[in-house]
Amino acid sequence: MAKDAKSGSAGSAYTYVDHKFDVVIVGAGGAGLRATLGMAEQGLRTACITKVFPTRSHTVAAQGGIAASLQNMGPDSWQWHLYDTVKGSDWLGDVDAMEYMVREAPAAVYELEHYGVPFSRTEEGKIYQRPFGGHMMNYGDGPPVQRTCAAADRTGHAILHTLYGQSLKNNAQFFIEYFALDLIMDDDGTCTGVVAWNLDDGTIHRFSAKMVVLATGGYGRAYLSATSAHTCTGDGGGMAVRAGLPLQDMEFVQFHPTGIYGAGCLITEGARGEGGYLVNSEGERFMERYAPSAKDLASRDVVSRCMTLEIREGRGVGKLKDHIFLHLDHLDPAVLHERLPGISESAKIFAGVDVTREPIPVLPTVHYNMGGVPTNYWGEVLNPTATSPDQISPGLMAVGEAGCASVHGANRLGSNSLIDLVVFGRAAAIRAGQVVDRTSAVPSANPRSLEKIMDRFDRLRHANGGTPTAVLRDKMQRAMQEDAAVFRTQESLEQGCKRISAIWGELKDIKVFDRSMIWNSDLVETLELENLMANAIATVYGAEARKESRGAHAREDFSARDDANWRKHTLAKVGEDGKVTLTYRGVHTETTLPMDKGGIDPAKIAPKARVY
Ligand SMILES: Cc1cc2nc3c(=O)[nH]c(=O)nc-3n(C[C@H](O)[C@H](O)[C@H](O)COP(=O)(O)OP(=O)(O)OC[C@H]3O[C@@H](n4cnc5c(N)ncnc54)[C@H](O)[C@@H]3O)c2cc1C
Repeated sequence: MAKDAKSGSAGSAYTYVDHKFDVVIVGAGGAGLRATLGMAEQGLRTACITKVFPTRSHTVAAQGGIAASLQNMGPDSWQWHLYDTVKGSDWLGDVDAMEYMVREAPAAVYELEHYGVPFSRTEEGKIYQRPFGGHMMNYGDGPPVQRTCAAADRTGHAILHTLYGQSLKNNAQFFIEYFALDLIMDDDGTCTGVVAWNLDDGTIHRFSAKMVVLATGGYGRAYLSATSAHTCTGDGGGMAVRAGLPLQDMEFVQFHPTGIYGAGCLITEGARGEGGYLVNSEGERFMERYAPSAKDLASRDVVSRCMTLEIREGRGVGKLKDHIFLHLDHLDPAVLHERLPGISESAKIFAGVDVTREPIPVLPTVHYNMGGVPTNYWGEVLNPTATSPDQISPGLMAVGEAGCASVHGANRLGSNSLIDLVVFGRAAAIRAGQVVDRTSAVPSANPRSLEKIMDRFDRLRHANGGTPTAVLRDKMQRAMQEDAAVFRTQESLEQGCKRISAIWGELKDIKVFDRSMIWNSDLVETLELENLMANAIATVYGAEARKESRGAHAREDFSARDDANWRKHTLAKVGEDGKVTLTYRGVHTETTLPMDKGGIDPAKIAPKARVY
């Protein structure tokens, strides 16, 4: 560690602290911690930077559980899990990555168990598993399979605390309440580190490393109503964009069917997994009409659309007929107490409802971002070119919701994110163990890159325009909520592009009131707004261009999936001027394990109509 004080080119003096590590992980959610732990276990000098205390990362809020075909509560297989994931993705996910995830899932969950995650138990003492949306037996023929491993309705909480403790035990070094500003890039495009601002004392930290891992989570806060934490601002996507890298499949934004009406807080799908169901104003269990086989446990995009249709057709509940009821009051209070204690509490606090007696008012709410920084299934970031679609961007990895491997394609199944975090956090660690040369010197930082990073920081810190950050953020969130919603049309999307581009222009007029370097939340929110905007603009432009409906991207004017033209990943690069350039990359359709070695029959996962 070396300390010195220098002037930024814009004239402010900053105190710098320099660090050298083998690997630096940005983010301490489930993905970041699993990567941190795996790297530290192998003896790599490992740093983990996080803007919030590790156990406050959004993963802590994950309720329902983590999918793995353990077969603790009935028959299951990784092949069924693969089929469900491929179908859930609406045939946009990369099959090799999905296959890797579902095959590694049981081992990754047992590893968590051995690290100490306090899973709920069956009578025989095995890990308890509940049904979840879109997870079925027999290649989708049903009935729902019990695949989702749970620690009551606090699974993410349990995982995060365990992984943090284990990482400390393995001597990973944590930099807590440090805000990562940007990636340090060599002129040839190699990532050699990251610059972060210590929120507590105002120092600027320059981390040089042989490998940087983005594990910064999603960007739900680009929308007005989201289940995600206020910290889910797509900072990794923003950093990637400013490093000249593309974002993939950003148009696919998941709306969770059961956000609490008004508050937006989540009621886990586990509530329907335990037997809860949705009704309209006529008291009808309408999901039986739309999805006769899976009913309330159809995939999330499907349920969200059905709810929206019911409301549109005048069968919403409440005074304004603008939401839907979720019933749990028929369930045994003992089950609610044992399996869903957290959501009983949320319903009480945020909706004033006693779930043992009344239904919960719910509405589809932004919940998850399928898109992100493109990677292969080792977490290595891709910077595809026309001739080399799987070109690796050296020195950089991305895992968790910030990345796009892509295992969720156009729609993620419930409980498939937590397993994505641990499988790919672990994969990134395995890969880093192979490719990071422990004996070589840590690369030194490119001065041009450092200057660019600090110039931007300094410009925002002293921004003195006429628009407060909160005003512009609200404008962005409303535009996204209104124009890139559950249902989309050419008109709404064109309007969304116009609105978001205009807001991009207004970033020049931003006003930061606080110039200090210590706990300057105004400046943090401004940095986050720029990051959100990079994600938001890629989302609307990608959506406008995609003339089909697939998974979470439901267009009223192009209501069918169009595999001939659109079974491909969108890649969006965003220029400094906010210009979005779209290119496309083929979907990986091949499995890696041949059928005669126990692999899945490719015919089983060939594209077909997606019905539940
Ligand atoms: C309410 C809710 C319930 C959910 N329930 C489930 C479930 O039951 N099952 C399931 O599979 N999925 C669930 N999901 C989805 C899943 O929890 C998330 O996709 C997942 O937790 C994301 O994990 P992550 O590690 O990628 O990021 P996060 O947990 O969001 O962590 C991001 C990390 O990055 C850090 N960070 C971000 N930006 C910066 C920066 N600029 N500088 C420094 N650090 C930074 C943060 O401090 C944080 O540590 C749920 C999501 C929500 C919102």
